Amino acid sequence: MIATLPKSQIQANCLIAGEWIQGEESQTPVHSPYNGAKIGVASEPSAAQIETALKAASLAQKEWAKLPIKERSKVLFQFRNILLRDIDEISHLKAAESGKTFEEGKAGLLKGIEVLEFALSIQNLDLNGKLEVSRGVSCEYRREPLGVVLNITPFNFPAMVPMWTIPIAIALGNAYVWKPSDKTPLTSFRIANALIEAGLPAGVLTVLPGGAKTVELLIDHPIIQAIGFVGSTKVARIVYERGTRLGKRVLALGGAKNHIILLPDANPELSGIGISDSFTGCAGQRCMAASVLLAVGAVDAHLEKIKARAASLTLGNDMGAIISKAQEDFLRSAIDQAEKEGAKVLLDGRKATAPAGMNSGNWIGPTILDHVKPGSHAHVTELFGPILSIIRVKDLSEALAIQATSAYGNACSVFTSSGAMADRVTREAKAGMVGVNVGVPVPREPFSFGGVRASKFGHGDITGAHSLDFWSDVKKITTKWEMQSDSTWMS
Ligand code: NAD
Repeated sequence: MIATLPKSQIQANCLIAGEWIQGEESQTPVHSPYNGAKIGVASEPSAAQIETALKAASLAQKEWAKLPIKERSKVLFQFRNILLRDIDEISHLKAAESGKTFEEGKAGLLKGIEVLEFALSIQNLDLNGKLEVSRGVSCEYRREPLGVVLNITPFNFPAMVPMWTIPIAIALGNAYVWKPSDKTPLTSFRIANALIEAGLPAGVLTVLPGGAKTVELLIDHPIIQAIGFVGSTKVARIVYERGTRLGKRVLALGGAKNHIILLPDANPELSGIGISDSFTGCAGQRCMAASVLLAVGAVDAHLEKIKARAASLTLGNDMGAIISKAQEDFLRSAIDQAEKEGAKVLLDGRKATAPAGMNSGNWIGPTILDHVKPGSHAHVTELFGPILSIIRVKDLSEALAIQATSAYGNACSVFTSSGAMADRVTREAKAGMVGVNVGVPVPREPFSFGGVRASKFGHGDITGAHSLDFWSDVKKITTKWEMQSDSTWMS
């Protein structure tokens, strides 16, 4: 269902040293994709405000890091209670500013809370191994925070993507600077307030809305030790190159063009629901959405099921809006172009009607393009909307060969009842996350999230078990207390 818009406009300012302060740079209105209504304003900080914010973050981090992880985790546990208490209200807000349905907004927040639960489990891990390596000499690992870390997040999951990293980075003793999307800054205000209420000391979380200029000032600042980024490949590359040129640790997750392989032996119900929901969920505005369907052999009966389910969705009730008018126009022109290039429109989202009273919003219905040519615009470009491009292929080898041409490598799924075929796809697909009969193969904690190729720049992961190495350093300590009779190179 459509979420309720905020009753009054929300002012998303900068959280600096624990205080909400209006940014001295630009003031940007935030409009709901549902109907274009102005629902808030975000203010961008000046360079001087960024300087003040980072100095305060640095001081706060030193005190925060002195607390044992079990004490830091108490704040996060309280944060979880507050999020669950206010989940409906926050979900309405994030849906209203991102265009999702209320249910999608809530599901994203719940997934973010799962990551928070993972972060709460870190306190019980034995991360600091110790061993007597020779008589009287011990070696020990000690995990230490990095200091002040930066994370830059996209519009499409205003709470979930930030929640991938906030709890983990903070639990490990870092101070966290959050640069939310300029398109959806209002949710950051609400999430930050929940952390303040939970008792997070001032300065451990800093929120600085804004665009490219703010990002550049932050990346370049010597106080920032590590940079996480989630967004388009174009900007991921910019952020990665800028940060690593300065010798900083950067992990930048980029865009996607996920291929699903449909084999004739697939369960028709499972594939019908899985594939339809994958390309229509969040109106296709998620990096794990099905985008290309590699239809192997005689699968027309399966395609009918996918189409029937997608065609039954109504805008507003089952599917949300597109983030901006420009993006809606881009999607419409991509469908026009595919048609000109020979694709057959099986389901035409251009004809869908906006929910009552929402004509000034950004709406497009589920669209299925059949007989899309490999290498064409609809095949290779990340469209980021509810559009499924079907490419007909003769066998699994041809499907895998086409998938392998993709510049991106976030997700790939196969629908089949054959274990051998599924096994082959899990081995040969050029993707960081592979699904078997799963349309959106998002790994759940403690498994890490992340793609390969142009879907991720940098090594390691920013979520899950492998993210501990990204958000902390491991110091190695060798200790000896007494003189040994045999002196070695370690003496
Ligand atoms: P975007 O790249 O436009 O913006 C992401 C962030 O970068 C925002 O905070 C934005 O304010 C900032 N930004 C924009 N231009 C910048 C510039 N020139 N320099 C520095 N910072 C800049 O992405 P978006 O439109 O918000 O999100 C959609 C994209 O994110 C899609 O490509 C989607 O696939 C991708 N995404 C990827 C993942 C993943 O895990 N791989 C997850 C979610 C979204």
